[in-house]
Amino acid sequence: MANEDLAERAQKVLFQNYRTQPIALVRGQGTSVWDADGKKYLDFIGGIATVSVGHANPQVREAVIEQTQLLWHASNLYFTEPQVRLAEKLIRLCFADRAFFCNSGTEANEAMIKLARRWHVSRGHPERIEIVCMNNSFHGRTLGSLAATGQPKYQQGFGPLPAGFRFVEFGDLKQLEDAVTDATCAVLLEPLQGEAGVITAPAGYLKAVRELCTRRGALMLLDEVQTGMGRTGKMFAHQHSGVEPDAMSLAKGIAGGLPLGALLATDELAKVFTPGTHASTFGGNPVATAAACMVVDLLEGGLLDHVRRVSEVLQARLAALPQASPRVASERGLGLLRGVVLAEDLAPQVVAKARELGLLVNAIGDRVLRLAPPLTVSESEIHEAAKLLAQAVAQA
Ligand code: PLP
Repeated sequence: MANEDLAERAQKVLFQNYRTQPIALVRGQGTSVWDADGKKYLDFIGGIATVSVGHANPQVREAVIEQTQLLWHASNLYFTEPQVRLAEKLIRLCFADRAFFCNSGTEANEAMIKLARRWHVSRGHPERIEIVCMNNSFHGRTLGSLAATGQPKYQQGFGPLPAGFRFVEFGDLKQLEDAVTDATCAVLLEPLQGEAGVITAPAGYLKAVRELCTRRGALMLLDEVQTGMGRTGKMFAHQHSGVEPDAMSLAKGIAGGLPLGALLATDELAKVFTPGTHASTFGGNPVATAAACMVVDLLEGGLLDHVRRVSEVLQARLAALPQASPRVASERGLGLLRGVVLAEDLAPQVVAKARELGLLVNAIGDRVLRLAPPLTVSESEIHEAAKLLAQAVAQA
């Protein structure tokens, strides 16, 4: 099989809903991947921030093999040990008391929206249905998460979307104060907007959102699908601000690249999901949760410190790009989730050139390049990637 052959077959049989790069990946090891023609790449997008502990991580592989020798799936008609173990680990690391597992980010957000609405109903406030969301946010592609996504381009042609979502500017506290009323169920936001182009919140914003929510009786819901599980140098991005939400969604890097999503919440909220109110057939799958347990162990066993250390190196290298080329305007982000902002509409061309040179990154729109390498990335790989990126910018 060669890249071209697979691309040709894919074009005939797959929905054409992705802008897939013209290569087929067949193998990965750490930060490196190889395509079907045998070409090697430094993978600085890591399955869009999912391959958190590196491709073919030996410890995760062991955990997966061990679990596949025991039990692959059971559904939630029965308890399975890895699911309970993962919940214990996650709640020890944050504000939450309980976990619900699903399979993706959008599902975790659907569960979170349903939980918030039902919580107000259970307290005798069915009128509190409105979820205040952020412009340019991204929460997923199912109808509820899509309704909460503040990017109309993703919503076009899919109406009617569920009602009860309104939008304010991310970072604008005044707008938020005006929007949160007695009809507000919750404020839903990402601590750092990933799909909007890696945009961080102004200092003090999350804390102010927390205070406003508490004051007005609205819930604070954080979408940490992209920012959670060590990506920003803390286990969860909101921990940089010292605030605690009422609930949080996770997915992407949680199981090192296997499909898993999670909703974490306080006891008070979690108890409104009584038996039968919400469910997922595959949610909490033993293989995925066994992998996730190992991911958490690795993060706690020194990987978080590593992320903090190497992200400074990456930040410094990217921050130097504008001096080297007028085509780069700035760089931004947190930890190992970084955006390089171009001064011209060249992002897709830079991505293609970088790929030719052996570096995988991804474009958000025409102006921003996103870098989200495996958290295990080494300093020398960062230096190599920065060099290739500078060449790609120059040659695009
Ligand atoms: N929320 C955020 C912040 C995301 O970045 C994404 C995916 O990019 C999602 C939700 C949706 O996740 P999934 O594609 O797993 O449904």
